Amino acid sequence: MTARPNAFSQWPDAQGRFGEYGGRFVAETLMPNILRLEKAYEAAKTDPEFKAELDEFARDFVGRPSPLYFAERLTEAFGGADIWFKRDELNHTGAHKINNCLGQVLLAKRMGATRIIAETGAGQHGVATATVAARFGLPCIVYMGATDIERQKPNVFRMKLLGAEVVPVTSGTGTLKDAMNEALRDWVTHVKDTFYVIGTVAGPHPYPAMVRDFQSVIGREARAQMLDRIGRLPDAAVACIGGGSNAMGLFHPFLEDESVRLIGVEAAGRGIGTGEHAASLNGGEPGILHGNRTYLLQDADGQIIDAHSISAGLDYPGIGPEHAFLHDAGRAEYVSATDTEALEMFQLCAKLEGIIPALEPAHALARVRDLARELGKDGVILMNMCGRGDKDVFAVADHLGVGL
Ligand SMILES: *Cc1c(COP(=O)(O)O)cnc(C)c1O
Repeated sequence: MTARPNAFSQWPDAQGRFGEYGGRFVAETLMPNILRLEKAYEAAKTDPEFKAELDEFARDFVGRPSPLYFAERLTEAFGGADIWFKRDELNHTGAHKINNCLGQVLLAKRMGATRIIAETGAGQHGVATATVAARFGLPCIVYMGATDIERQKPNVFRMKLLGAEVVPVTSGTGTLKDAMNEALRDWVTHVKDTFYVIGTVAGPHPYPAMVRDFQSVIGREARAQMLDRIGRLPDAAVACIGGGSNAMGLFHPFLEDESVRLIGVEAAGRGIGTGEHAASLNGGEPGILHGNRTYLLQDADGQIIDAHSISAGLDYPGIGPEHAFLHDAGRAEYVSATDTEALEMFQLCAKLEGIIPALEPAHALARVRDLARELGKDGVILMNMCGRGDKDVFAVADHLGVGL
């Protein structure tokens, strides 16, 4: 047994566990791929050449660093703490997802992979993966639930424009969890040439730690920008949670800053009490899915339940294992916001700040509003604006009863 890490930021342990969560619960046939990936990532992580290439493309292709922005009019409207946005919605492809795709595809290239596969739900991760694969001339296959393909036609077309092949998955409910199962199956049968790009801090070790590391650029930049701009750290860092990658990327560089509260906002859908939500921590139980142990939405028999949220990007029935660990340890707080609240914040942010947020961070904004009042005028809140709302305008118009 290796020693257990004693600082939050040092997890996972050598077995890829975050306390009792994480690990790798996979078929034996998948183990060679996973061990090869782990070894390659460990080597890349400390290689200055890899870092230099990642930094170069993050700057010139993605547009990093993203700005830190004082949301002055929302601060006034909420009447409490100062609200700052980390503007990851300004990244190429409109969200944080590309930070991770860039890191994984560069790693794939380094490992000599000639074929990229990915799963996608709403299509945002599929688009980001197809984008980076196109840039490096790698064939890209995206597994997507048949139900999601029907619901997310513009993103399906985007992926095709970018040269990716979109494979419909009809098993289960034809949604994200089924697409991920199918991608894992593909990976088992293409051991030698294929790299699987997972889109959030889920899956078997090393994915949760690796995706977190690639997304931690968000928190690293934001922490330095806050110190530079106002000479102090925020009282709270807030982010929305689907699988938990943008939140983990924001939180990780603040884990040892005890004065900084870390707050994750899950999607409460129609309300936690209705059962129609996507809040794995607030309304789920520990179990095993997609190769790791974490909190999951499940019925009394342990069957995974499909998540519901107005935001397609938040309806994953699980959450990254590191969040499960931070939740149980009390280092991070996990709250939720409903569909209705997200719709209200979507419109308010557009009107007051001239920023149309994605529906996902609009959930975070609902809790930022309460927190601003709780902390009062001396408080400082940092929120990750992880995506822009262009993709959501049709859905929002629909909900507001406006025909487009
Ligand atoms: C995919 C997505 C999310 C949810 O994913 P996380 O892994 O929880 O970050 C949140 N916001 C946007 C804009 C997304 O595209």
